[in-house]
Parts: sequence; structure tokens; C-alpha cells
Amino acid sequence: MTMLTFGTAGIPASTKASGDTVAGLKRIAELGLGGMEIEFVRGVYLKDHTAAPVAYVGKKLGLKLSCHAPYYLNLNHADEVRRRQAGGVLHHAASMAAKAGAKSVVFHAGYYLKDSPEIVYDAIKAQIEVVLDKLQGEGTLVKLRPELAGKISQFGTLAEILRLSKELPGVAPAIDFAHLHASTGRYNSYAEFSEVLNRVGDTLGREALDDLHLHVSGIEYAKTGERRHLNLADSDFHYDELLQALTDVKAGGLLICESPNIEVDTLLLQRTYLDLSPRM
Ligand SMILES: [Zn+2]
Repeated sequence: MTMLTFGTAGIPASTKASGDTVAGLKRIAELGLGGMEIEFVRGVYLKDHTAAPVAYVGKKLGLKLSCHAPYYLNLNHADEVRRRQAGGVLHHAASMAAKAGAKSVVFHAGYYLKDSPEIVYDAIKAQIEVVLDKLQGEGTLVKLRPELAGKISQFGTLAEILRLSKELPGVAPAIDFAHLHASTGRYNSYAEFSEVLNRVGDTLGREALDDLHLHVSGIEYAKTGERRHLNLADSDFHYDELLQALTDVKAGGLLICESPNIEVDTLLLQRTYLDLSPRM
């Protein structure tokens, strides 16, 4: 039976050697969790010689790993040179992710700026294609996962990331349910979560539901979308209904919890999920 794996966004806070990725993976296993997203959000901090032990230990412990590319990349930068540089950053993050044993690299594709969504879509798609070609040419096997955006100024509606995933082999969605809730004010009920999952299955096929990449946390938001992440208990997010919808659709893949309390909410989500049984 396909099951979801639960992991933290970054090294668990209770890791004794703070900032040590390998120690973080060992802590994940001790906690009884199954995965971790390595945070390159402020920069790709692993190098060839430090990525190899991460891959080794991750594999030995049977963990599922992903990476989050730097926040500063914008594949729709107004300047063409800067756009290509952003593609270079994504490529670097993806190849280091693969060397660290991660199967996916999650990224925020860019900002709309003053352009129409259709023009932005084409610009971002073109940059992603360059990165995919390069990765393929090198034989690097890693999925590029554009993330569903939390702010309305950011590219990445559900429709946009599903369309990219359908049109580009090697691209799959990173569905951030906190962002979806924050950017729309909706998507906080069993029916709405099921609607999203059905849309993923209808657009991308059953394989996409077997290999989801999800972000979940509590979230504070305003009209413009995301303000900041919150611990689940301090938020209005109905994570139990989300987990029920995921159970009912027999979802597989990796669920990364991005709450500020890191492993506390990840364990809460995993515990809640394991206690559920399908409603249908
Ligand atoms: Zn993100």
C-alpha cells in the first residue's frame, strides 16, 4: 500500500550538533520520521565532499530526501542575464541535491513583476527547460518541483504548476497546502483538499498521487497572501481534514512540515496520519 513519508523542513531543532546535516538525518531516524528536506534556501551549502556522506547516511537509514533551492532565484527576472543566472542557481541546487541523495528539488520559480501571467509562464518554462536539458545531458536524476506560491505576487498557482508538470517531463508539483490556503483564503476543508488531489490525479495521472511532494504548516496570512509560518496549534489550518483526504486518495510521497517548531508538528502530523483509516 502506498503511504506518505513524513519529514522536517531542515535539520530537526533537537539535533545535538546544530547545523550538521548528517547529524540531522540521524536525529530524523531516532525520532521515527522518514525524511528531510535539506534547506538550501540561503545558499547551496553542500559541496561534493560534504554531499557524499549525506547521501550515504540517508540511504543507510532508509530516508527520503529532498532539497529546497535558494529563495533568491527568480526565473522571471527583468534582466536576461540575471534570468540565466537564476537558471544556473537552480541547476547547481539540483545537481547538489542529487549528489546528496535527494530525489527532488523544490523551488520558488519567480515573481510576476509587471508582466501578464501568460508571458511569465513562458519565460519561466523556457528557463526550466534549459535546466532540464543540462541535467539530462549530465545524467542527473532529480525532479524539479516548482512550489505552489504563498504570495499573490509570486508565480505558482495550482493551475500553473500543474501545467508545467504536464508539459515538461522531469517536472512535478510541490504542493504547499499552507500557501494554497494563504493565497486564496480557501482550501481548508476535506472537500477542498480532495478537490485539489483529484485535480492532480486528473491532470498528471495516478503516478503523481503515488509520488506527491507536499509542504504543510500553520500559516498567518493577509490579502496579499502568506505572512509567516505558524505552529499548527496556533493556526486555523485543518490538518486533520487534509490528512484524511490524503488517506482516502491513497497518497504516497513525501510530506514536509514547515512549522517553526520543526519536528514537533512533523511528529504530530505523522501520528495523526497513522491513526486514520480510509473513509471510503
Ligand atoms: Zn518553499
